[in-house]
Amino acid sequence: MLRNTAITIPTLVRIKRGALDRIGIYIGRLHLQNIVLLFNNELDKTLIERVDTSLKENNISVLQHIPIHASSSEHAQQIFQSLPRHTSAIVAFGGGKALDVAKYVAFLGRLPYIASPTSLSNDGFCSPQSSLEFQGKRRSLPAAMPYGVVVDTDVCLNAPLILWHSGIGDLVSKITAVYDWKLSFKKTGSQIDDFAALLSDATVFQLMAKPDHDSEGIRLLATALMLNGIAMEICGSSRPASGSEHLISHALDLISKRPRLHGLQVGVATYIISQLQGQGTERITNLFEATGFWKTIEADPFDRAEWIEACRTAPSIKPDYYTILSEQKNQDTFARIIEQDPRLKKIFR
Ligand SMILES: [Zn+2]
Repeated sequence: MLRNTAITIPTLVRIKRGALDRIGIYIGRLHLQNIVLLFNNELDKTLIERVDTSLKENNISVLQHIPIHASSSEHAQQIFQSLPRHTSAIVAFGGGKALDVAKYVAFLGRLPYIASPTSLSNDGFCSPQSSLEFQGKRRSLPAAMPYGVVVDTDVCLNAPLILWHSGIGDLVSKITAVYDWKLSFKKTGSQIDDFAALLSDATVFQLMAKPDHDSEGIRLLATALMLNGIAMEICGSSRPASGSEHLISHALDLISKRPRLHGLQVGVATYIISQLQGQGTERITNLFEATGFWKTIEADPFDRAEWIEACRTAPSIKPDYYTILSEQKNQDTFARIIEQDPRLKKIFR
């Protein structure tokens, strides 16, 4: 298998304090004069006003302001069909909903897409897929990689702490995902892209060196999550960012009475899977302790029975995707760890 030859990676990357008030300058430099702006409907109005002010000051015309309430592909289709003819770019501002819809609209319209996330709860702000509901079910659809990524670290720092913990959980999963990828190569001969694996692995270490909830910590997390998305684009597969720990989270999304944030589910699953793999557990534990990740989960524990069911159904979610959970005996060990690990006592009920 040859590497994806049509790799798209962001040209504009600004991850810094005050980036929000300069978004008009950045977009103006790219000569994208007529934009359509998508934003989360529940977003703080003052933030949207700051974006508008910056765009206006730099003579960028906002042809449409579109509040996004639901991340459905039907909604994205409607927006695509009503795009003004002379739209030169799609700009998304806010959380996952607005970004996922915008990414898909840009893909349908073959338009440049600028992502400006206001929180960092997962690696979706710069990945080649959109997580959207299609006929009532959540699906991963091909989408446009952003042409630009603008992250105001102060804005993300003000987002609820639980979203930061979710981003940390999604990031550490690369430790187990890359292991599963290599395991799949050994067991089934599926190809590994060494560079994508290396990039994915390296991002986690950057954050582990300084896991602080401050401007610099946010910058490191945003950079790491962005590079994960790029690793997926490089190899044309979700393998460098997603292994058995993600299958557990997908299974929970289907069976759980109340699915939680993606990165919270993925993070705890990563801790358990790392024990099955016999690698990385100490580093993951240290990071979760340093960041207060465990405390966030303890405040609203997971359902033990749902997780045990999830580890049984996880392999059937992607039958051709070999991971450590493909072997039944490892599913048994997973269930045993949930029951017996002292650190997980307060994490499940
Ligand atoms: Zn993820």
